[in-house]
Amino acid sequence: MRRTLRNAPGTDPTVHLSAIDDGSGDAIFATRLDGVITAWNRGAEMLYGYKAAEMIGKPASVLYPERESISVREILERVSRGQWSEVVDGFRWRADGEFAEIETRLSPIFDESGTVVGVSSIGRDVGDRRRRESELRESQAFLEHAQSIGHFGGWKAPIGPESVMTMTLETYRITGIEAGGIVRWLDFFELVHPDDRQLLSEALDNVRELGAPTELELRFTRPDGSPRWLFVAADAQFDSLGVVVGNIGVVRDITERKETELRLAHDALHDPLTGLPNRGLFLDRVALAVARTLRTGSHVAVLCLDLDHFRVFNDARGEGCGDDLLRAVADRLRTVVRITDTVTRFGADEYGLVCENVSTAATAAERAQRYLTAIERPFVLEGGDALITASIGIAVSGPGAEAEAMVRDAQLAMHRAKERGRNRYELYDRGLRHEVQERSALEGALRRSLESGELFLEFQPIASLSEARFTSAEALVRWRHGERGVIQPNDFIPTAEETGLIVPLGRLVLESACRQLHAWRDAAPGTAWRMSVNVAATQLREADFPEIVEQTLEDEGLEPDALCLELTESVLVEDGIVTDVIGRIRELGVRISIDDFGTKYSSLSYLTRLSIDELKIDRSFVEGIVGDDSKRAVVSAILAIGKSLEMPVTAEGVETEAQLVELQRLGCDTVQGFYFAKPLSAEECLVALQGQPNMPVRAPRGKGR
Ligand code: C2E
Ligand code: CA
Ligand code: CA
Repeated sequence: MRRTLRNAPGTDPTVHLSAIDDGSGDAIFATRLDGVITAWNRGAEMLYGYKAAEMIGKPASVLYPERESISVREILERVSRGQWSEVVDGFRWRADGEFAEIETRLSPIFDESGTVVGVSSIGRDVGDRRRRESELRESQAFLEHAQSIGHFGGWKAPIGPESVMTMTLETYRITGIEAGGIVRWLDFFELVHPDDRQLLSEALDNVRELGAPTELELRFTRPDGSPRWLFVAADAQFDSLGVVVGNIGVVRDITERKETELRLAHDALHDPLTGLPNRGLFLDRVALAVARTLRTGSHVAVLCLDLDHFRVFNDARGEGCGDDLLRAVADRLRTVVRITDTVTRFGADEYGLVCENVSTAATAAERAQRYLTAIERPFVLEGGDALITASIGIAVSGPGAEAEAMVRDAQLAMHRAKERGRNRYELYDRGLRHEVQERSALEGALRRSLESGELFLEFQPIASLSEARFTSAEALVRWRHGERGVIQPNDFIPTAEETGLIVPLGRLVLESACRQLHAWRDAAPGTAWRMSVNVAATQLREADFPEIVEQTLEDEGLEPDALCLELTESVLVEDGIVTDVIGRIRELGVRISIDDFGTKYSSLSYLTRLSIDELKIDRSFVEGIVGDDSKRAVVSAILAIGKSLEMPVTAEGVETEAQLVELQRLGCDTVQGFYFAKPLSAEECLVALQGQPNMPVRAPRGKGR
């Protein structure tokens, strides 16, 4: 806008100026061509802080700082030549000694004849506007910076697929869209994961209709193809009349958080070692499968698969290798199960499988056999190939089946498969549950018996044929049950072993037996009878067992070789702890005998490695020694081993004279059995020990020699 001031020739231009100016907020003053101020309005008074009376007659140059004076003079010259000036910005002195930032328009003043007689200056303080502009720029930069720090981008999307979105720099960065490019809503929408598009468009529609902001998480694919997770918050956008014109919101890249969340969710439901679903997830799947059977009328089978002798493998090859095997088994199971079936690891070396659409128990058994066969194939591991077998228990769903109960049943059946020789499967049946209930009742009663003194010992004398006397006795435990009468060890020792009760029970037997031997020796001074005590594998896995033995001997004042511990062969292949414990027992000077020798033949190397003292031939061989050539051959072989390793061999279960004669003929010297005495009470046994063993009447026949 250009303003010209025209005054009548000869008139003072101020007169005219004052007529027009005071309604305007602008600071207006006029000068003659020599720069002397001739008019000064109210706006000028306000802006520059000088009263009109002070300024009129003064040169306008007092307002100009030194450094601006040249350019102003040039402009003034141009203006005085009658040219229109451009708007100039600059600083002017104010009365208070501060600068004001002013936009000034300088224009010539003409007289009637068209001659330039002066200059008018219309000024406006632009300091505020500038400040606001720079503040705005600053706050915009600040917002952008904050957005990039917080990884929040802003966006606006007017309604309509073809509408062009507005995005902040951060939004371009987050979405991977080239910065500054024109983005139609449709372009953006197509980058959203197909499964999340409906969610987004419905959310935005809702926001616009209800006016309530919303938040959602979406999958998104950047133009370069990389998948991201976006957090989007959206509100409605209104125009100045309050009409909804689109959406406005922020967006944030939450890919990392989302991936962590998903991983945690996965970890919470999966076994870290094998990556298989864990028990919780497995139970959910079983429950779902059971629920489906209501519709399909078919069955679900839960299989519990436990590796055989995994501990032995783990000890022999190391834990790292053990873990490799567990993973390899998991992988193999994953490949052999049907796509609908779930495999889990319950813990240690125990896996669970759920099989759907099982029509009969036989189908489930077929599957179990398939898995057993699959496990039998060698596993190729870093430390060398591994061969292992497994035992499987099967529970098939019936009416009202429950996931947890099915797993328990399958586990019971698996234990039965173990008992029946491993590398096989067993089906759960009600009888099994009954048996388990019985066993747990037995366990409770047995636990109490340890306190109540219902356990007692009988003793069976052992004779030396060459010395024609009894040299020792074997302590055999019995249980005088309140209701069931006397229970034999075969009916409760297995339960005691499984439950760990064998540890306190074994200690009780050891102490009572040693105390008894002490009592006998007191009763018959000068005798050197020994005592044999049976020891179970579990007891040897207690690291303090040798100390207990040592303490017991000391308490009873017995020399260490007065005690002979009978171990079964299967104990000896067990593990490192057992070997160590046996070594420490040997160091004490206590004797060790291998019981039931020949029944669980595995390796003979341990006989010398562990420096075993004695062997005990199992009753089953002695029983067949007369009439069964193969049994006689085994007895003769055991005696040969004993002879060459200089180990005394005892034959147990000798019932008849014929057996005794045959044993004698084969060179067996130490014998035990009903032929001499049944297990006896302590008093009866003392009498027996003091007597003469019943020697054969006939001399050895020497047949076959
Ligand atoms: P074992 O150690 O082989 O004990 C010998 C078993 O054979 C005893 O049975 C004994 O009564 C029986 N026996 C001895 N001579 C004859 C015979 O001439 N003919 C026949 N038919 N049997 C004979 P028992 O006392 O019933 O013990 C059975 C098993 O229970 C024992 O077998 C042993 O393994 C276990 N046992 C007994 N007491 C204990 C104990 O205190 N601790 C542990 N861990 N196991 C024990
Ligand atoms: Ca024994
Ligand atoms: Ca035996």
